[in-house]
Amino acid sequence: MILNNVRMTLTGQMVSIRVKDGKIAQILLQPFQDESDVTLNFNNEIVFPGLINSHDHLDFNLYPPLAGRTFRNYTEWGVYIHIKYEDIIKSVLQVPEALRIQWGIYKNLLCGVTTVVNHGKKISVSDDLLTVFQDCQSIHSVHFEKRWRLALNNPLKSNSPAVIHSGEGIDDAASKEIDQLISWNLFERPIIAIHGVAMNEDQAKKFKALVWCPESNYFLLDKTAPVDVLRNHLPLLFGTDSTLTGDWNIWNHIRKAKQTGLLSGAELYDSLTVTPSTTWGLNAGTIEENKDADMVLSKAGSFFTTDPQDILLVMHKGNISLFDEELYQQLGGANAVGYSKIRIGNSSKFVRGDLPALIEKIKQYYPEAGFPVS
Ligand SMILES: [Zn+2]
Repeated sequence: MILNNVRMTLTGQMVSIRVKDGKIAQILLQPFQDESDVTLNFNNEIVFPGLINSHDHLDFNLYPPLAGRTFRNYTEWGVYIHIKYEDIIKSVLQVPEALRIQWGIYKNLLCGVTTVVNHGKKISVSDDLLTVFQDCQSIHSVHFEKRWRLALNNPLKSNSPAVIHSGEGIDDAASKEIDQLISWNLFERPIIAIHGVAMNEDQAKKFKALVWCPESNYFLLDKTAPVDVLRNHLPLLFGTDSTLTGDWNIWNHIRKAKQTGLLSGAELYDSLTVTPSTTWGLNAGTIEENKDADMVLSKAGSFFTTDPQDILLVMHKGNISLFDEELYQQLGGANAVGYSKIRIGNSSKFVRGDLPALIEKIKQYYPEAGFPVS
């Protein structure tokens, strides 16, 4: 497949891209003229690497945000919501887990995410629509996982990074919890911390990376991690967490992050692309020859103003997972077999698989479920 005349987000350069065998095979400065290959002609729309969402709980995305106030730390929040929102939690859990996970995958895809790191037990899902990254050991947290010390020091897991919620709070307990984690990392395993709101510079030096989830942090704690100083000590990755603590749309998280001014636009962009690709060991995150063809085309005009309705195309390893109705003719109607049509904002998209049927099924178990698409 060929994508002619797209504009690289970072450099503003107009390029044409040939995709073959799931990889970016060739990038030229002028359009390809090759009638033997399926060709999509664009007119200056921007292209960027598929987003890498480094933290989500795929099975938690049918929840509405639950809090109603702010907290000192995640333990306080966890206890509170299980009492206050017991009924909602029960209703969501009526939905079979496989359906909840499938919706979590679509939530990410609709925003142009092509890799999502799922936190929790290993799940069996196909990587058809996007990559669900699970090559790491999820440990919930010091307070919510009883055997965290054993899990962290399990010699059978020593080759993969441990990923753990850490320092999710504004009080002393949250900071001490990070020290506890560091002192119990007996074999100096690479640890990727999630949140790190209470993390200081000395603590940061002990971690392989930090997943920054500003939307979730502000929602729960009205404060986020001091990434403006932590960035000097460790790589920063961006994560959404689930809809339990924030909006379904990652672009709203990204704009909120930008408004904080804690990172530059370029650093924020890197935290969604090249940095997580390196940290998780992916062959993605940049638009270069021989990289996986994970790409997003947007008609928003710029990366930071993009919203799901602006997305023209999401390509995952060379396959189209989502395309806008505007491309229907160019792709030829026959290519829409296996896709379903949905409405999002003021646009219509075709997504691979049967999303309307999934929504129907979920509503049979949980009629109050809200979806951003129809
Ligand atoms: Zn989380």
